[in-house]
Amino acid sequence: MNRRKRILVAAALLAIGGTLALIGATAWISWREAFEEENTQITELARGIAERTERIVLEARNTLLALDELEVERCSAAHFAEMEAAAMQHPWIKSIGHWRADERLCATGLAQGTALKPPQADRIYPSGLIAWWPSRHTSVAGVELFLMRFGNHDIAMDPRFFVDAGLTGQQAAGLWLENLMLTSNPPDAVLPPLDAIPPGVRLDQAEERIESRFSLGRMLPIDVVVVEPADGFWHRQNSLIRTAAAVGGGLSLLWLLGIVILLRYQLSLRSELRDAISRGDITAWYQPIVDLATGECVGAEALARLMREDGSLINPDMFLPVAESEGLMPDVTLAVMDSLLADLPALLKLNPGLKINLNLSSDDLQDPGFGQQLALRLATAKVPSHAIKLEITERALINDEAARAHIRDFRARGHKVAIDDFGTGYSSLSYLETFEIDTLKIDKTFVDAIGAEAVTSHVISHIIDMAKSLKLDIVAEGIEQQAQAEWLERQGVHQGQGYLYSKPLTARAFRRYLRGRPNQTMA
Ligand code: C2E
Ligand code: MG
Ligand code: MG
Repeated sequence: MNRRKRILVAAALLAIGGTLALIGATAWISWREAFEEENTQITELARGIAERTERIVLEARNTLLALDELEVERCSAAHFAEMEAAAMQHPWIKSIGHWRADERLCATGLAQGTALKPPQADRIYPSGLIAWWPSRHTSVAGVELFLMRFGNHDIAMDPRFFVDAGLTGQQAAGLWLENLMLTSNPPDAVLPPLDAIPPGVRLDQAEERIESRFSLGRMLPIDVVVVEPADGFWHRQNSLIRTAAAVGGGLSLLWLLGIVILLRYQLSLRSELRDAISRGDITAWYQPIVDLATGECVGAEALARLMREDGSLINPDMFLPVAESEGLMPDVTLAVMDSLLADLPALLKLNPGLKINLNLSSDDLQDPGFGQQLALRLATAKVPSHAIKLEITERALINDEAARAHIRDFRARGHKVAIDDFGTGYSSLSYLETFEIDTLKIDKTFVDAIGAEAVTSHVISHIIDMAKSLKLDIVAEGIEQQAQAEWLERQGVHQGQGYLYSKPLTARAFRRYLRGRPNQTMA
């Protein structure tokens, strides 16, 4: 499989894997959200019923207290009028009765003659509250009433009013007082026994329904259970998953499209790069390296630029990755070298001590004939080898005997060698010692951190100390502020480059710069 196919297969696998992960994550999140939503909705319903029941019981007790305090003759017309007025207050009151001892003497509300004659009460509370649960003994016109007596009056309540709050056709609710079922809605609802349902919401997979139990125990222990079939939930869930799948599919298509566009761009850049190399459109631009104390230019770094036919420029961070993946880095180095050697005689005339840095790639260090080629070209261009300093990135050094031999060879041929972007790799002092190098270039990241509280701001001091102990020259890269330059100088760093002094310049602009007329054509 060639490289392109491998990239395509990897991209497709990534897209499929990513889509599956996306759909899985979306489905899980939407399931959680739907369940939470259901949870909130059904819990609110159960809470509403429980609180309403508690309110009704409280209001009934207050009504009964007020009736007991009336100073009217019991079972008189005035007493009836008061009881009727109280009964009219609430739709859930079906009858109000008056008791003497254990006899319900007179009552209002129900059709005359259907007086309730409940047997012994179901509950007698220490507070004086007496309760009869709905049963055939409290049944009037087929509705079993809930009877509550306090003092010498009672109220017969229609318990259906307790549980009529906001249920949808699919939902059923049950109300328990003191663990005894008071009522349900609908009346024939099949509800699980109370002790089979833990508090909170759960999905009962066997019964395929969602159950919620809400308990309230402020006055009387009240329990409400609301159940609903799970199919509605699953239905909503399925539609959510379908939406997630559609969104995931769409995204992965976009992803694939992005990859295809990127590959096409890379392919076009690849052929553009090959053409540029063969046409000589890759040229060297120069970023001055200055003496920090005097501001005098002591050299420059040659940086590759690809000039398009339309005159636009492509910077190395765009085309170098393509050159690297296509194995074209040695060609780029040679192109920059040729451009540099063509410019150098004129530059050296302006400043004979100038040293121009050439960036080498790790591919160059794999080529045993590289030093020889460089020497030949220098001889042809009549340029002394000490005018060219070679920059090798720290990452290209990783435990490589070939790199070590190359460095030795370069130095034997008269070149100085600098380690570029120092601090971005993993080199230690003892490791650096094993290479015969002359200069350490401190990466811009560390220069940026000067004066900041970041950890990197302390690292630069260690790098400087380390370079000094190895007796290496130090060049700081990416200096943008005067304060950075001053700090570096105080630390004993003598050379630097950066926008503070100059951006990379064309050969012509660099010559002007050397003549003391900078800022003509800049990158
Ligand atoms: P590098 O070798 O570390 O070069 C320094 C880079 O930092 C250059 O970017 C330069 O323009 C930029 N720079 C310098 N001072 C400042 C500053 O004050 N602020 C900011 N923001 N940037 C500054 P450039 O030219 O885009 O090159 C990027 C990298 O590409 C280089 O980093 C080098 O690793 C590589 N490169 C460039 N030309 C060549 C080449 O001919 N051969 C090889 N192998 N690599 C090259
Ligand atoms: Mg460099
Ligand atoms: Mg660098």
